[in-house]
Amino acid sequence: MTKSELNKFKNSLETKQAELVQFVRNREGIAIEKSPDALDEVQHAAERELAIRNLDRESNLLKNTRAALRRIEEGSFGVCLHCEEDITPKRLAAVPWAAFCIQCQEIADRSQRDGDGIPDEWLVNAA
Ligand SMILES: [Zn+2]
Repeated sequence: MTKSELNKFKNSLETKQAELVQFVRNREGIAIEKSPDALDEVQHAAERELAIRNLDRESNLLKNTRAALRRIEEGSFGVCLHCEEDITPKRLAAVPWAAFCIQCQEIADRSQRDGDGIPDEWLVNAA
């Protein structure tokens, strides 16, 4: 990867990171909001649950974005953390914080869906 390509990813990751920080900060307020009205409370509970789920997802994304920025600094950006193959430029353009190549990501997604989560040994380098 050329330096200018890397810079482009760095810029978009930094923009994404700023957005996510903003989002997570705003959402933390919503997630703990309480209502004295019981009916409202039901409605709020559903909204809160959704907000928390979103917050979870965004926090995860933020973690991944930060890790990707760190990999840029360390020079390991664009390489799959598991199989160490290059992540395709197309994938990086769509998901610049991707830590895994498509194949490894699919395995990770599958084990996450099955409830096992990403295998621990994969995350040694990601943390
Ligand atoms: Zn891989």
